[in-house]
Amino acid sequence: MDSTDVSTWGRVNFRKPRVDADPDGLPPPDHPLAPPDPKHPHARRRGHQLPKARVGKDTRYIYTVDVTARMGWRSAEFEETCYFCGYDLHVITDVPAAPGLGPVVQVARAMNLTPAGSHKGEGGLPAVEALRDRIPKPRQLIADRAYNNVRNGTFAIPVWKLGYTTIYDLHPNQRGMHPGPKGTHTIWIDGVLYADSLPESLYDIDPIDTDMKENERVRVERRHQARQAYAYVPHDARHLGGAQRYRGPAVPAVRVRCPNNPISMRAPQGVPTTSCVRGKECGCGHTITLHDTDYPDMRMPFQHGTLAWEASYHRRVGIESVFADLKQNRLHVHRGYFRGFGISRYTLLIGFTLAALNLLNLHDWYSKRERLDPWGRFLGEPEPVRRIGMRPRRSVSRRHAESSSAARFGR
Ligand SMILES: [Zn+2]
Repeated sequence: MDSTDVSTWGRVNFRKPRVDADPDGLPPPDHPLAPPDPKHPHARRRGHQLPKARVGKDTRYIYTVDVTARMGWRSAEFEETCYFCGYDLHVITDVPAAPGLGPVVQVARAMNLTPAGSHKGEGGLPAVEALRDRIPKPRQLIADRAYNNVRNGTFAIPVWKLGYTTIYDLHPNQRGMHPGPKGTHTIWIDGVLYADSLPESLYDIDPIDTDMKENERVRVERRHQARQAYAYVPHDARHLGGAQRYRGPAVPAVRVRCPNNPISMRAPQGVPTTSCVRGKECGCGHTITLHDTDYPDMRMPFQHGTLAWEASYHRRVGIESVFADLKQNRLHVHRGYFRGFGISRYTLLIGFTLAALNLLNLHDWYSKRERLDPWGRFLGEPEPVRRIGMRPRRSVSRRHAESSSAARFGR
């Protein structure tokens, strides 16, 4: 899932409008229209919004004749500015079940529209809820930093309760170390629980980055793999009440050899041996129950910043493709695409627009495979006549004919 901007048709008639986005979210960009104190976006500042703007029931400023539109930040990928007045559109699309599988047809599965700059968690959750039981289990939800930088009760935990495993990116200021549950001799690093036998040299590892050179990526991944051996890994699925058991690195299947856990010492020599002192308590051999309150915004099936995480998170390009279709490749949803005012109108119209985009994408997907698309099936149209085995042979023979004619004419 992700969100994108839908501008209102209304024109902003104010100089220096303030982008009074919800303070429970990512820090605003360093921009003249950002509020002076992001925690108090409605604080007064001289020189802003002349003439003085009206304020809605939500205590946010109204800058256009569209009284339901608000100011918000957006990525300037398809637009001119990083701020706009209108609405945030939250959309969910399908992605392959695992990295390397697929491709899948990109249809918008669910959506929700909120005034721009509204709380991302509260705006995104209704879209997830709208999926209901149409998504088979196991369920995974991939979302960017906007959704795990809000209070956990607004998005991270409710989404878990709906049965989703979440895969997020971490903001640099989310990363860091904290002590694990009391008396367990464990530490939290970037949302993963480790035994305290983890060597200090492995505490701080950079996340893998697409900008890194290949040898750098390999080196960083090796360090992540070394650290992975000391991690607590899920022992069973999350229970209804929110508890989930995790097992330590010296609990079979053993990943480290620890003198305090005799069974683990029978593992082959290739398995790393901890520097634990026999008889002195350590965190290698426990099974620990974690709860929803234990870093739900950061806890993932793998360590953040590893190749496994990158491959899984990268499936998010699916939603980027939906937005590129919406803004640029197929449709051109920019300011003026919808004319009129009011969030109800925009919700209805963007719903029809996404449905139309789905039909276009489904039609392409099925006709490329010489099959009748779902809309055609709904209308009772006949299946297309399949030219089984014709296409590859024809293209080969055509290429062959071209090359032989090229040879004939001496080109
Ligand atoms: Zn140990």
